[in-house]
Amino acid sequence: MKAVVKTRKAPGAELVDVSVPKPGADEVLVKLIIGSICGTDSHIYAWDSGAQVYIKNVPQVLGHEFAGTIVEVGKEVRKFKVGDYVSAETHIYCGKCVQCRNDQRHICETGRIFGLTCNGCFAEYFTVPERVLWKNNSQLPPEIAAIQEPLGNAVYCALGDYDKNLEEKSVFIIGDGPTAIMAAGVAKAEGARLVIILGRHDRRMEIARKMGADRALKDGQGAEEIVSDITAGKGFDVVLEMAGSPEAVKLALRWTRIGGRMSAFGIHGEPLVIDNYGQYVRSGKKILPISGRLIWRTWEEVQRLLESGSLDVSPVITHKVRLEEFEKGFGFMTQRPKASGKVILIP
Ligand SMILES: [Zn+2]
Ligand SMILES: [Zn+2]
Repeated sequence: MKAVVKTRKAPGAELVDVSVPKPGADEVLVKLIIGSICGTDSHIYAWDSGAQVYIKNVPQVLGHEFAGTIVEVGKEVRKFKVGDYVSAETHIYCGKCVQCRNDQRHICETGRIFGLTCNGCFAEYFTVPERVLWKNNSQLPPEIAAIQEPLGNAVYCALGDYDKNLEEKSVFIIGDGPTAIMAAGVAKAEGARLVIILGRHDRRMEIARKMGADRALKDGQGAEEIVSDITAGKGFDVVLEMAGSPEAVKLALRWTRIGGRMSAFGIHGEPLVIDNYGQYVRSGKKILPISGRLIWRTWEEVQRLLESGSLDVSPVITHKVRLEEFEKGFGFMTQRPKASGKVILIP
């Protein structure tokens, strides 16, 4: 069978003929219907420093976002059967560590990460442990099912984990990657009064508007003055930092209202200085780090939103290519100025 494989610890990947894997006792064999390229895959493909921490061994099959059908089950698999239409949580948690025992499986450190620290789904067939499988509604189109994992990031980021109600709230999203754009749709679907997104790329701002953002502001073009005007200088109830730079974090914290919540999703490796820490403490602003998705709470929220019909994430899918044209797919992801949303791979 064909698989997109990282064959060397260097830029690129190759389409390789490999044998169909055998599912272990607690695993299933899945036939790929649709795969979707994640920003992380793109970093691994380009082989930049951030991606190199994940890939320990080559060759390794890439990819972690998918919709597929189970074609074989291991002998200990109980809840899933051949023919089931599935997607999967990327964090293959260990189930035993202190986080796992405290309902924090999404931040398990001893588990594996599907397609990042072990073989993934950009192949005609692949194995997945039963414990991370998610059964899809049969009515859900495969291309939407395949992007539930990043949509889960958007949902967790937008809703947070303690103040889940966005009804009548004002939301400011910093960043215009596909997950940030989906977060705009999620916030609107959850009843936010005002959703403003700050980005850099025209095409992505256009998609964000399609997803329901009330305003899409372009970075540098007087955006801060506009934000100040709109909020009377007080900031937003909820700010989602989804750009990943020290400047973006500072901006997010500044524009979170007193007592509001900032979700920290963007990743960077720089030190972070909080100016006037005492003032920050007195402000009661909460920073919520978003890592993956809550297992399975976030998946259930994704399902609720998709089934309610209040959220349509299809505008975020901008490109579809065949699995063997994956290089073209990664090309869409890395082209400048950025014009892609989610890029779908079809076997
Ligand atoms: Zn992903
Ligand atoms: Zn664990």
